[in-house]
Amino acid sequence: MTQLTCLSLWQPYATLLVLDNPATGDPFKEIETRPMPPWKTPGYRTFPGAAPKPGDWIGIHATARHARERELDQLNNAVGDLPIHFSTEDTRDGLMLAVRDDEVETAFEPGAWTSGNTHGYWAPYSALVGTARIVGAVPMVRPGQRSTPEHVSIAEDGDGVTLLRWKFDGVGQSADLVECEPIGHEYPFGWYEPGRWAWILEDAKSVLERCPRCMDSGRVPDDRPEAPRGLHGHLQAWMPCSVCEGAGRLARYPTVAGRQGWWRLDLDTLAVA
Ligand SMILES: [Zn+2]
Repeated sequence: MTQLTCLSLWQPYATLLVLDNPATGDPFKEIETRPMPPWKTPGYRTFPGAAPKPGDWIGIHATARHARERELDQLNNAVGDLPIHFSTEDTRDGLMLAVRDDEVETAFEPGAWTSGNTHGYWAPYSALVGTARIVGAVPMVRPGQRSTPEHVSIAEDGDGVTLLRWKFDGVGQSADLVECEPIGHEYPFGWYEPGRWAWILEDAKSVLERCPRCMDSGRVPDDRPEAPRGLHGHLQAWMPCSVCEGAGRLARYPTVAGRQGWWRLDLDTLAVA
């Protein structure tokens, strides 16, 4: 039995974690904002459930909760120049996102939404939508405050909000600044407020691109009792992945009920692609 530690999110935020922005090649959302760190951190409440370790793969799960028209209207206003639009038409099993690829030239003016440069993506409810590595947890602070080795600062003025991710080469006052990265594109897709936490995700992919059981390889270690084993009993043979039937990716999103906190999904029970 192979288990994947999963995190349940409302749509469209679950799908935004695994959907690439054509302008950057990275997912629209790489930070999940929560009121507490994902794992045990001295001095803070911990997110409930058996936490992953930094660097572990996690499953990105979309809850059954339907996005409300008003929230989607607000998101569409908030995304500004980002090449994404959320359909507010009510659908039973999910919602449609439209993504614009400005590298595709059309007869229309740059930035226009046309059938030639716009692709639709389905954001399902009650589904496992992808996998990612959770690599860090960063506190959010006011500008001028400092938390090493990393923090996210939030500055508001008349022109809007400036979101910066700071990295230092160590802990404490003597640590030198390594990088200060503007991350304003994340602002519409999270709740940024001093005292909250930014969970950093990397290598995210949809299950339609990467099977969550075999991670794209199409095969898994053969752990049947009759399988050949090495001297110390370790597994040494492979068999085709039964979740994707060797394809390395799924043909559709598996329907999965979510839970609160960190929770474990038994991958061997996932519906076959
Ligand atoms: Zn597979």
